[in-house]
Amino acid sequence: MENKLIEFRNVSFRYTDEQPWVLKDCSFTIYENEWVAIIGHNGSGKSTIAKLMNGLIFPQEGEILIGGRAVNEETVWSIRHDVGMVFQNPDNQFVGTTVQDDVAFGMENRGFSRDEMIRRIEESLAAVGMQDYRLTEPYRLSGGQKQRVAIAGVLAISPQVLILDEATSMLDPRGRLEIMHTVSNIQTDRDLSLITITHDLNEVVQAGRVIVMNKGEIWKEGTPREIFTEKKVLRQIGLDVPFTSTLAEELRNYQIPIEMEPLNHEELLEELWTLHSKM
Ligand code: ADP
Repeated sequence: MENKLIEFRNVSFRYTDEQPWVLKDCSFTIYENEWVAIIGHNGSGKSTIAKLMNGLIFPQEGEILIGGRAVNEETVWSIRHDVGMVFQNPDNQFVGTTVQDDVAFGMENRGFSRDEMIRRIEESLAAVGMQDYRLTEPYRLSGGQKQRVAIAGVLAISPQVLILDEATSMLDPRGRLEIMHTVSNIQTDRDLSLITITHDLNEVVQAGRVIVMNKGEIWKEGTPREIFTEKKVLRQIGLDVPFTSTLAEELRNYQIPIEMEPLNHEELLEELWTLHSKM
């Protein structure tokens, strides 16, 4: 059995006593070294989950464990070393005047020697493909590049989990691809769990597991393929089904027997070729 990294046990949360519950009795586990996508419509509670994981807020009911330790006021500072977060807006995340200063910032006051800091800056910029931009000023970077630097800043402190909260949603299609490519490489190369939070079903394809939120509750957990088969419910809970998946559905309506749920257009094409060769 894989080791548990994050455990939500019957977690309920509301921002104030007067407001409705935004998370209701949520229980799930994230294991070491896995990639989990958390998806849901706007307002379904995804960002609240991210804030709870990093101890920015605490649940009124239930318990959250990170590496077996309960998240509370006493443990929160050490837990934040293990939980790295990258947020939506690339422009709010820059603090340094150059790329390397920015990556260094998170390491300050953590007792790293100068040599160790330099080594970590090099290594984490290389991991996101930004090593040639060390001395570049942030305003010269594209949105995708800024987010890659933000990811490098988090990697430099070697967290156990990297959480991307809608980290691609302000980027153009090219920036989005850059980020998905970057995180996929990182997940392959490093001992690290990855949690990508998104409202875009196109971005869950590469995850090992998907948790679907609806109105503060977990609607379903499964592999991307399992989730994509439930198109009707996905639409009902306010998610846009990816084009390839909709196309496969339409083809089935025309009696074309697409058996496997395609995750991308290559898979659909493959299946159509196989069918064609049997005709
Ligand atoms: P998502 O990330 O899925 O869009 P959120 O976790 O941001 O959802 O929000 C869940 C619900 O909590 C929403 O109804 C939102 O309006 C409410 N909410 C979020 N942040 C706050 C806050 N700081 N104070 C009060 N309500 C909030």
